[in-house]
Amino acid sequence: MSGERLRTYEGFPKSQGLISAVVVLCVLISGCGKETRLKESSLLMGTVVEITVQHKDATAARKVIQDTFDEGKRIENLLSIYKKGSEISMVNLKAGLEEVKVSGDSLYLIEKALYYSELSDGAFDITVGPLIELWGFNGGKRKVPRKSTIKKALALINYRKVTINREKSTVKLEKPGMKIDLGAIAKGYAVDRMIAVLENKGIKEAIVNAGGDIYALGNPAGKGGWEIGIRNPRKRSEIIDVIKLKDKAIATSGDYEQFFFAAGRRYSHIMDPRTGLPASGVVSVTVIAQTAMAADALSTTLFVLGKEEGEKLIKGLENVEAFFTK
Ligand code: ADP
Ligand code: MG
Repeated sequence: MSGERLRTYEGFPKSQGLISAVVVLCVLISGCGKETRLKESSLLMGTVVEITVQHKDATAARKVIQDTFDEGKRIENLLSIYKKGSEISMVNLKAGLEEVKVSGDSLYLIEKALYYSELSDGAFDITVGPLIELWGFNGGKRKVPRKSTIKKALALINYRKVTINREKSTVKLEKPGMKIDLGAIAKGYAVDRMIAVLENKGIKEAIVNAGGDIYALGNPAGKGGWEIGIRNPRKRSEIIDVIKLKDKAIATSGDYEQFFFAAGRRYSHIMDPRTGLPASGVVSVTVIAQTAMAADALSTTLFVLGKEEGEKLIKGLENVEAFFTK
């Protein structure tokens, strides 16, 4: 799979249904290989994270999986805005006041997020925090806000007002009231870090699946990769494509996981920072990339940009594929 490739699925029936975007097919089939296959799940970052490893020794595998979950937990504790003491919560708390010293993980991820903002001319923007709160997607009451409050929140959304000092390892939000929300990229990053732990412990074949943000490591049973089924976002039971992934990541952003209806319109949790309204026009975007972080960030970016602009952006990137349903 070299270069970029685009496929579009159109015309799906707009039936209802909560679904996860992808399913790891090989896990469902027995006899994928001679080694032991061990799968464990844990609740992390507000989602079920599954780790599947191929291993000759189950006891050792269990220990490796535990260490991998620990790494996920470490990342969550640094980045989650739902944890008061997290580094990102501290950065938000000090918005407009002072710079905050952060770990290499936070610094790296914020820098990457700013790269995706530049790439998409602000369609991807981690300073969407105030909008997410306004629309109630932070666990509050979900409602359509007044135009005037949306306008006020929009004045706080600008990735250019995030200042990074690499030497001092600090981050500062320039305006009071600004809020970083890494919801569109942190899960992917955590998956990559978890895969790194597995690799360091000598695991050659594994899958980490954080609620559909997946990295597939290796080539189980020499089958050319892990089989991932792509589901129809509007019809749970239907698998519309099967993709083999080897040392690659996949992530999906859709309007079907977190949304509400008001006056017959669907409003979902991905914001268009240009309008202050939830992005619309696409049902889901699935991205395959070299890292789960890239797949995660780009799927959200393309959801905001829509198919036409999104396709243009992807064409300029190496080793990235995107699938739209609309
Ligand atoms: P999910 O987390 O449901 O898998 P995404 O990866 O697409 O879906 O991330 C959605 C989350 O990203 C939102 O809940 C919010 O925290 C954040 N977000 C929303 N809009 C944007 C945006 N335009 N740019 C960056 N982050 C966003
Ligand atoms: Mg994302």
